[in-house]
Amino acid sequence: MTRYTLPDLPYDYSALEPHITGHILELHHDKHHRAYVEGANRGIDQLLEARQKGGIERVPTIERALAFNVSGHVLHSIFWQNLAPEGARKPAGELAEAIERDFGSLASLRGQMIELAKTTMGSGWAALVFEPVTRRLGTMQIHDHQSEVTQGSVPLLVLDAWEHAYYLQYETDKEAYFKAIWNVFDWDDVAARYQRAQRTELAISNGASGR
Ligand code: MN
Repeated sequence: MTRYTLPDLPYDYSALEPHITGHILELHHDKHHRAYVEGANRGIDQLLEARQKGGIERVPTIERALAFNVSGHVLHSIFWQNLAPEGARKPAGELAEAIERDFGSLASLRGQMIELAKTTMGSGWAALVFEPVTRRLGTMQIHDHQSEVTQGSVPLLVLDAWEHAYYLQYETDKEAYFKAIWNVFDWDDVAARYQRAQRTELAISNGASGR
């Protein structure tokens, strides 16, 4: 059976310094992300057991934890790839045009993402997404890893606003972290995600189209 696996970081732990310290990145990837992967696999095992041995009444609770852990795994996996020591520091081409069309400018998108990250109550993420019904870009404030998510939206760029992502370095100045991380986003990765996301079809109208 296919299991969830912790992906290797595509760069060294210290590669994103001084914006994110190697110490934070090592703990974040090796401890926090790993815990979501293990939690996700545990959830799959518990579901199988509940189905095979009887225990259907446990399924809603198991699936609630599974949604948290799988979503944590997915978001962190995208986050590592969104970041790069030597990445494209500005969007280009179709992605740049879409950002201009839907946000007015990159500065406006950046301000919106920082505001969403800053105002997260408790733990969460800010995300740039492709919304396949209107086929536009949008932003979301995600609580924990999975709440307040618009169904079908595809995450393109995610910003981890959990304390574990910055506290050892930035302490209470979380806005400084939300600003600094823009120095290490890789817009080529975001653009590749945008190209793939445009093939998403939800088929929610009478036609075959997702629109
Ligand atoms: Mn995290």
